[in-house]
Amino acid sequence: MEKHRHCLNCGISIPPDETFCSERCKDEYIKKRKRVMRIQLITLFVIFVILVVLVGLKSHFL
Ligand SMILES: [Zn+2]
Repeated sequence: MEKHRHCLNCGISIPPDETFCSERCKDEYIKKRKRVMRIQLITLFVIFVILVVLVGLKSHFL
């Protein structure tokens, strides 16, 4: 079996020393990653705000 890797973005077979099949795929992958990271940051922030509000409400009513 020939050694090869798969493009991290589109999954097609590429030479073992490559990570992406093309610069375009690399750009797309980085953009996708950035979007996912932003969503994760926003989610964490929302959870943090909810926790702060809950803790604030709890101490208010106790
Ligand atoms: Zn690709």
